Amino acid sequence: MTKNAPITEPINCLHFINGQFTESLNKKTFENIDPATEEVLGTVAEGGKEEVDLAVAAARRALNGPWKKMTLTERSKILRRIGDLILERQDELAYLESYDTGKPLSLAKKIDVPRAAYNFHFFADYITSVSNEAQQQDDQAIHYSYRRPVGVVGIIKPWNLPLLLLTWKLAPCLGMGNTAVIKPAEWTPMTATVLMEICKEAGVPDGVVNLVHGFGPNSAGGAISEHPDVDAISFIGEPGTGSAIMKASADSLKKLSFELGGKNPNIIFADADLDEVIETTIRSSFINQGEVCLCGSRIYVERPAYEKFLEKFTAETKKLKVGLPLEADTNVGALVGKEHYDRVNSYIDIARADGADILTGGGRPEHLDKGYFLEPTIVTGLDRNSRCVREEIFGPVVTVLPFDTEEEVIAQANDTHYGLSATIWTNDLRRAHRVSHQVESGIVWVNTWFLRDLRTPFGGMKHSGIGRTGGMHSLDFYSELSNITIKL
Ligand code: NAD
Repeated sequence: MTKNAPITEPINCLHFINGQFTESLNKKTFENIDPATEEVLGTVAEGGKEEVDLAVAAARRALNGPWKKMTLTERSKILRRIGDLILERQDELAYLESYDTGKPLSLAKKIDVPRAAYNFHFFADYITSVSNEAQQQDDQAIHYSYRRPVGVVGIIKPWNLPLLLLTWKLAPCLGMGNTAVIKPAEWTPMTATVLMEICKEAGVPDGVVNLVHGFGPNSAGGAISEHPDVDAISFIGEPGTGSAIMKASADSLKKLSFELGGKNPNIIFADADLDEVIETTIRSSFINQGEVCLCGSRIYVERPAYEKFLEKFTAETKKLKVGLPLEADTNVGALVGKEHYDRVNSYIDIARADGADILTGGGRPEHLDKGYFLEPTIVTGLDRNSRCVREEIFGPVVTVLPFDTEEEVIAQANDTHYGLSATIWTNDLRRAHRVSHQVESGIVWVNTWFLRDLRTPFGGMKHSGIGRTGGMHSLDFYSELSNITIKL
């Protein structure tokens, strides 16, 4: 097998506490594995309670230090500078993201890194453009809202879009004057570490941003969740982890923002433009190896279009090239790690055991003998109660089921604990509104997918999340409002 690329030296990731890169107190580390080659990329400092204590103490001091005296305009300039520096280092960041996650380098260059920069540029502008509420109560009083930071915020991240999702949280967090203790996913530590260098260079004072590497329970993630001096937690990950974080943070009554998993329906009515449907459904099924919380992994097709859809969708899926992440023509890279690879494969076993037809994929591509590569997989013939149809697989595996009526497909779409996103394909305007209002999803796309405007509310209902981010919703989470009443 060709080597993925020339990383010539190990890349070791350290914690970043009070403006300094540092090892763990007990010098403990763990290995960071390249999912495309199964080779060791470097070591990662393994933090726990002691490192989190130091990081939280630094964040608390910084909250009341020079950071507190900075004006909104000064913070906005720092956010802008962070965005600029991300773009200056975009090639390096894209390489690291691709190595860590197994995603195609071309995707990291096109989406992850530019969007990470944009998250900072967007909030640099947004925080200076919004105004707070004010009410006049006859001639008796005026009331106005006064906004201040929440305090020390724990930011706990998943591995699928590491830099994109970290910056999505960190930009408004800093913009509103908070300080942060970040815990990147253990499988993808590299770009978060580089972001710390960037923050320092951009003028973020020491202690405002801290990063502790490590694992979840009984490690850095658990220590942040239960720390009595952390005021809020912004978490992206699985619903079960969200539940554990909620329990751990209950004693200290933290403010919580959760963006959790999805099992998102992609509903295709027969009147939709099939070519557009196929082009977008290829992306919404297999982009980033299907490891995007918004992927439409449950596809429902109205019966008159079912056979035609399957034929075209299967043909286009077969054209996708599974390959080494750094190769320019790779469409689908490696899954993030062995544990996740085995989990995704176990769903294909379940599908087979449940009597499914696997129209394409279902295994390792023949030309790749190492790494966590899986062919894009289309599964049909399953009962709606199969675990493959009901549970989040988070890999390049979709199920396709036919439907006959609008009522039936809405009932099936809602028959899940998840409620993150849904896609509806139809040229009937009234039906588009009708179905959008009935599908239980925080985000509904009609005749498109993943079209985002960062001012709009983003988040899931049911077990897919708590609260919304985006625009004002982000500022609301990362600030506390006081209502001030002045008697006239
Ligand atoms: P995960 O929940 O396993 O881990 C996420 C983070 O939580 C990691 O940093 C992990 O170390 C940490 N963690 C694990 N257990 C913990 C605990 N008990 N206490 C504190 N921290 C703990 O999720 P993952 O496998 O990294 O990510 C995949 C999941 O994330 C999928 O469910 C996906 O849908 C979801 N996701 C959601 C969104 C969204 O915007 N809604 C975006 C991306 C991913």
